[in-house]
Parts: sequence; C-alpha cells; structure tokens
Amino acid sequence: MHVQGSAETAQLLQDADRSILFTAARPELVMERGEGMYLWDTEGHSYLDFTGGWAVTCLGHSPAVIRDALSRQSATLVNASPSFYNKPMIEFARLLTGLSVFDKVFFASSGAEANEGAVKLARKYGRLHLGGAYDVITTANGFHGRTLAMMSATGKRQWEQLFLPKVPGFRHVPFNDIDAAVAAMNPNTCAFMLELVQGEGGVHAADPEYVRRLRHVCDDSGIMLIIDEIQTGLGRTGKLFAYEHYGIEPDVMTLGKGIGGGFPLSAMLVKERFNLFEPGDQGGTYSGQPLAMAVGTAVVREIVGKNLAAHAAKQGAYICAGLRELSSKHGLEHIRGMGLLLAFELPEARSGELVNECRKLGLLINAPNPQMIRLMPPLIVTKQEIDAMLEKLAAALGRLFVQPR
Ligand SMILES: *Cc1c(COP(=O)(O)O)cnc(C)c1O
Repeated sequence: MHVQGSAETAQLLQDADRSILFTAARPELVMERGEGMYLWDTEGHSYLDFTGGWAVTCLGHSPAVIRDALSRQSATLVNASPSFYNKPMIEFARLLTGLSVFDKVFFASSGAEANEGAVKLARKYGRLHLGGAYDVITTANGFHGRTLAMMSATGKRQWEQLFLPKVPGFRHVPFNDIDAAVAAMNPNTCAFMLELVQGEGGVHAADPEYVRRLRHVCDDSGIMLIIDEIQTGLGRTGKLFAYEHYGIEPDVMTLGKGIGGGFPLSAMLVKERFNLFEPGDQGGTYSGQPLAMAVGTAVVREIVGKNLAAHAAKQGAYICAGLRELSSKHGLEHIRGMGLLLAFELPEARSGELVNECRKLGLLINAPNPQMIRLMPPLIVTKQEIDAMLEKLAAALGRLFVQPR
C-alpha cells in the first residue's frame, strides 16, 4: 500500500471538514484522477468503478473524446449568452432529434432542471388545451431530482415530510398499477411522469403491458406522457433509449447523467405538438452552453458510433451470469435489470458494510437501500473488468456472509 501523500491527504480531509457544507457522510479519502474504468485517490489507491460516477461517466473516466471536444470548443467559443444560437447547440439538437422520436430540444445543466422544464411544459399544455389542468401524476418509489418541485414530484416515502410545504400539483400512485393510474386521473390532470426503469428506487422495470396501457390512457384523455430517461437514456439499458424496449413513443423525454459523460448537461426532448413555450416561459443562463453542447455531441456520437448500447446489453448479460454464479454460494437474490443498470438483493440488510468492504478491496458499488446493491458501470466495461469486479465482490461477500453448506 502507498503511504506517499498521506500528510497531504490528512490536510485535505481536515480542510474538507472545515469548509465543505455537510450533506452526506463521505469516506475518508479524496479522489484525484480517473482513467477508463478506474479512479485513483490521493494515496494512490485505485478503484474499479462500477457506479460509473453515478451512471454518468458512460465513456469511462477522462475519455479523450471529452478532452478533445473541450479543448477544441474552448479555443473557439466558451459562451455567447443564451440569447443567441450557437453552432454546437444546433448540431447537438439535430443529432438528438435524429436519433429519437422527438422534434425539439431544450438544453439545461442538471436532470432536475430538465424535469422542471417538463413539468412547466405540462402545466402550459394544461392551461392551453386542458382547461387549466395542472396536476402531474408520478409513481411511488420513483426519483426525479432534488429541487423543491422535483422533491415534491418524487414519490419517495422518506421525503414526504421534508422541506414542507410541498410544491402543490403532484400526485403519487403505485408503480406498475394501471388501475391506480387510471383512478388517479381526473379533469385536473395534465401529465403522467415516470421512469421506465426506476433507477434510484432500486432498478425496477415497468411492465410492458402497464406502459402500453398507460400510453393508450394518456392518448384517450389527452394527458401528456413524460418519460424520465435521465438514468436510462443513451444506451444504459441496452438500447439507446429505454422507451425503445416498450414499443411506445413518449410525448416528452428528459435526459441527463450519461448525456454529458461527466460534464453537467441535460435535455428535454418534445414532440412538435408540445412546442408550446412563449418568450419568458423557459430559459436558463447555461441553456445551450457551447462547451456542454460540444461535449454532448462528442459523447453521443461516440455512444452511437461504437454501438455502446448493444455492448451494454451484452456486458449486462455477462454480469448477470456471473452474479447468478455467486448467488449459489452467497445467497444473492432477485438479480435484475436491463443492460448495464443492474441490482440484486443481499441475504441480510448489510449493503452499507458490503460497499465499504468492496471499497477496501478497490471496487466501487452502490447501495440504494440497506439490503440492495446496484451496479451502473461505464458502458465501455470489458469482460476482463467484469471478471475483476466479480472476484472482488466474491471476496467481500465471503468476508461478510457465512457460506451455507
Ligand atoms: C439522477 C436523476 C435525476 C436528477 O438528476 P440531477 O442531475 O441530479 O438533477 C432525475 N431523474 C432520474 C431518473 C435520475 O436518475
């Protein structure tokens, strides 16, 4: 083990403790560098990253594609203000509409901001076409972001009493329950918003029949269907967009996380019918920011050009096979997911301990709840790196869980 830099690390941790607003318990280490599937801390320890920077670094850490796009664009135009078109913004919008079923794009910087835009658009649509309807129905256990409105939209029980009063205009219904969805709809409903695979909620996929019927119900009653693909979009599930698995077309889709490969970037895509904003309704200082646009274009071209969606499907299947093998020894249950968005349950509610144990062995995984582990590695992951992950995971499981025999 390296000890080099440990005085520096101690100083950094002390400074962090003094100056960073506390929002989360973080491990006693400082990340310094990333390359491909790996991160390195200031002590020189390496970490095989199966959280993919939180389903964000789809091309791995510090890919040349992003470095080149940033250096090219930063030498040409960094910011022209949101009141002008710029070339990379037009190019990127053309790319995204060409790859999807949507006609128009609004760019933002974070997922929550893209979702806010979708809800504003839904309310606008309700005012113009549904007699002033403004309620948006969302699903229990979903996740849509951390702004006040998105915390109200998110159907997470732990958040119900946080930051009261809630933003009005959101109703939550059980996921995968079409009768509950229909029962909740009334003349004040303007939109239904959901993830096709609930990511933060623990990798729960919508039933195809549920989604198809939801699409029909929304069509029949003129309700806008918003699909939040911030976690599932851009190849993560084994197709470029998760809606492609379901044979439906959303009215509005939001993208974030992987779209910038690590650069803060998000987008809301809409069908022409919902091109309804008027000047003053929607905007943002960084909407269409040239650096972000150049990076997004480069990242999405790489995902498409290398067919990383198909690669994700293949590697995901390989991971699942490996997990099933581990499961006979260590009692892993309910191995599930699509492409490279995967999860499984542990025999005991000790996922936090497992995450720590894995980190000590140089592997990063995520525990969305006390009994569950989620994997969302970069889309570029190789079999060799998957084998390395499975080996470390097996070692950590072996340390925590007694093997039945
Ligand atoms: C991460 C996430 C968000 C929020 O994105 P931020 O960039 O953190 O604002 C919204 N919806 C889903 C499905 C997400 O996974």
